[in-house]
Amino acid sequence: MKRKTLKKKVLVSASKPSAIQPVRSVGQLTAYDVVLHNFDIAAAKLQLSDELKQLIKTPDRELRVELPIIMDDGRLNTLIGYRVQHNNARGPNKGGIRYHPDVDLDEIRALSSLMTWKTAVVDIPFGGAKGGIAVDPRQFSTGELERLTRVFTQKIDCIIGPSEDIPAPDVNTNAQVMSWMMDQYSRRHGHSPAVVTGKPVELGGSAGREEATGRGVCIALREASKVFKIDIRKTSIAVQGFGNVGSHTARILEEEFGSKVVAVSDVKGGVYNPRGIRFKDAMEHVAETGSVVGLKGAAKISNSELLELKCDVLIPASLGGQLHGRNADRVKAKLIVEAANGPTTYEADELFAAKKIPVVPDIYANAGGVTVSYFEWAQNLQQFRWDYTRVVGELEKIMVKSFADVMKSVEKYNVTMRIGAYILALDRVAKATKLRGI
Ligand code: NAD
Repeated sequence: MKRKTLKKKVLVSASKPSAIQPVRSVGQLTAYDVVLHNFDIAAAKLQLSDELKQLIKTPDRELRVELPIIMDDGRLNTLIGYRVQHNNARGPNKGGIRYHPDVDLDEIRALSSLMTWKTAVVDIPFGGAKGGIAVDPRQFSTGELERLTRVFTQKIDCIIGPSEDIPAPDVNTNAQVMSWMMDQYSRRHGHSPAVVTGKPVELGGSAGREEATGRGVCIALREASKVFKIDIRKTSIAVQGFGNVGSHTARILEEEFGSKVVAVSDVKGGVYNPRGIRFKDAMEHVAETGSVVGLKGAAKISNSELLELKCDVLIPASLGGQLHGRNADRVKAKLIVEAANGPTTYEADELFAAKKIPVVPDIYANAGGVTVSYFEWAQNLQQFRWDYTRVVGELEKIMVKSFADVMKSVEKYNVTMRIGAYILALDRVAKATKLRGI
């Protein structure tokens, strides 16, 4: 019987190349298991043939690369990177690059699959991919990170490209990392801004891309709150993770939606103030100290306490697997909006369904980022710039329409929002696959 916990990942040494990683330990549930579980339920509802199911379920291509770099002190350090292309039936593969010690093939597979479903849910012309390096970037200087990014780009150069596979930022990568990738790729292929998205505006990035995932999360929350009769101006909201996605989510909720964010956290811990945490105060504190911990006027809490706080809305915006079989029954929020990728295991999903806590799933809720990445890619290909107002307006249209599409699927199949979104996505990918001819 499977253990009801998310797998504790085997760490890959940052200084020693590992043998090929085991993608699972016997008896443990991995991030990829969780995605496959949801896929199987959706495929059964759609009555997909076994042959088609087999073709769509698993990744098209998986690349593992060794990344030797010379560290600032002259040492040779060899790291391991991955790029997994899950499916390109609806368009070029698309997905972020993650730098984190826990990165392994299982996680990248799961995340690449989520990208296939995400791009299909919001109906943008991309497939799904993901990449990453098993590294703790906090231990690296800027020069070391640049060298690592350049060698990774060289090693995956053979499978990426503006009409092949387009990387973007994810955990611990940002516009600077995308600039290095774009520059490295362009050295061989000529000026190619469309090879990555999430670039700085000065290098062909799109207005509104940096905040796009957070903005999409806020729109998802607003649309869901209409269905579940929650007044977002009177809600208390806890946000786990205060990086790109979590911080923009908190800012937009406070500044534009008039909501009260009562707790925020990062890898070092969290802070809680039932009267509300002002975004500007939190940002100033992070700029001074590198963390939200220690924010004046707020109580220190742990990341697990944040997840179990008495609040109306919980927004996990850090890493995957945060809500699982061992803590889900202690969650008190009335609504969960998944800003992170894969924050909820299926045991947790079952507990939330039993407790009637709706979960707005990652493959819809955090799709704002890839949607504006699509706008960036389209602008790069057309060599034409959109202004911020246009980007925000187009994002709003796509997020609102996609929410309605997900809810139609929920009603038609009488399923949770997650399974409704999977059914919607899988149906679109299956139709594209059949139309292209196998
Ligand atoms: P980020 O690196 O900018 O921020 C991550 C945040 O999580 C940081 O505040 C970090 O301190 C915190 N964190 C890390 N480990 C933690 C832990 N163990 N417990 C609690 N907090 C922890 O990354 P991001 O781009 O904001 O991505 C956050 C999540 O959103 C990820 O799951 C990512 O896959 C997903 N996502 C990102 C985008 C995007 O456009 N960046 C798009 C869609 C989904």
